[in-house]
Amino acid sequence: MGPNIRFSSVIKGNAYGHGIDKFVPIAEWAGVRHFAAFSADEAYLVKQASTKKSGIMIMGYLSDDQLEWAIENEIEYYVFDLNRLKISIMTAQKIGKKAKIHIEVETGFHRTGFERSEFDEVIRLLKSGADDLDFEGLCTHYAGAESISNHVRVKQQYETYMEIYSRFLESGVRPKYRHTAGSAASLTYPETIMDMVRVGIAQYGFWPSPETLIHRFKKYDAKDSDLKRLLSWKTKVMEVKEIDVGEFVGYGTSYMAYEKKKIAIIPVGYSNGFSRSLSNSGRVLIHGVYVLVVGVVTMNTTTVDITHVPNVVPGDEVVLIGKQKRQEISIASFCEMSNMLNYQLLARLPQSIPRFITP
Ligand SMILES: *Cc1c(COP(=O)(O)O)cnc(C)c1O
Repeated sequence: MGPNIRFSSVIKGNAYGHGIDKFVPIAEWAGVRHFAAFSADEAYLVKQASTKKSGIMIMGYLSDDQLEWAIENEIEYYVFDLNRLKISIMTAQKIGKKAKIHIEVETGFHRTGFERSEFDEVIRLLKSGADDLDFEGLCTHYAGAESISNHVRVKQQYETYMEIYSRFLESGVRPKYRHTAGSAASLTYPETIMDMVRVGIAQYGFWPSPETLIHRFKKYDAKDSDLKRLLSWKTKVMEVKEIDVGEFVGYGTSYMAYEKKKIAIIPVGYSNGFSRSLSNSGRVLIHGVYVLVVGVVTMNTTTVDITHVPNVVPGDEVVLIGKQKRQEISIASFCEMSNMLNYQLLARLPQSIPRFITP
């Protein structure tokens, strides 16, 4: 990102499925000293997992009592409405500690953020509450920097942000950090990097979109690009069976064996984040061979066709995402099969799946 750029590691959605408790120590080991959460419960998990006193920032929801906890624990948070700004000043006064706030401004995404009409009041409160506030950041979020089709909109948002920033400066309030960029913006529009970035998907080794990769490296194949996937997803064969010609597999009649088949049942279904839309179309690796999902993915099980893979027995490793021998199932190909974004697939991996750090 460049020298002296504050790197905030985005860990919402259970660290994009990786597990906050597992991911934070890895990130700190790699030098990360700032984390961005969506909510107070996530910030709490970061605090528990951190051993380096890293900075923590909440970008989304906070109730009033959580706000008190945040100030007490020197956790930074977004402020996007006047009420929260006033409550911050009052609470900080009460506790006797400064509230570390990031003012989020609306530039065209239309989620949270102060509107133009509110800026005068925001600036007035920032000045009058200066003894109780640390104005940590002035921030906004782009509406889809991962897609070239949003180019004009992103540029417009950038311009709008810069105008707003000037207006704040001219009024005599200066944020410590200007930050607008997530993964896609920082990789595609370097001018959006400013003083700080909030990087999520890319730090886990995934591209925000194929377009971002193409823009950055002028190629489509992510294999030898700079990003390395951190996560693999594995299970074990639960049962092996033979079925006769004309038999149906699983619920309903969506799959009928047109020849004698051998199938393996794996203990992963849509309750584990293996989408039902992978029915009769997904694939996994067994013994280093791609095998197809046959029949309907159920809540807890999936059936795959192992007719052409010899000697499969219960307990054999099954790879859903990651490498096995010389083959690999990337999350991108997985997503194409199931029409899901990288983001969605990762965030849907249930917390109940045990996660292990391997060297
Ligand atoms: C999720 C999020 C990010 C990170 O986005 P990536 O595309 O995963 O890098 C940054 N900023 C905000 C406000 C977010 O909600």
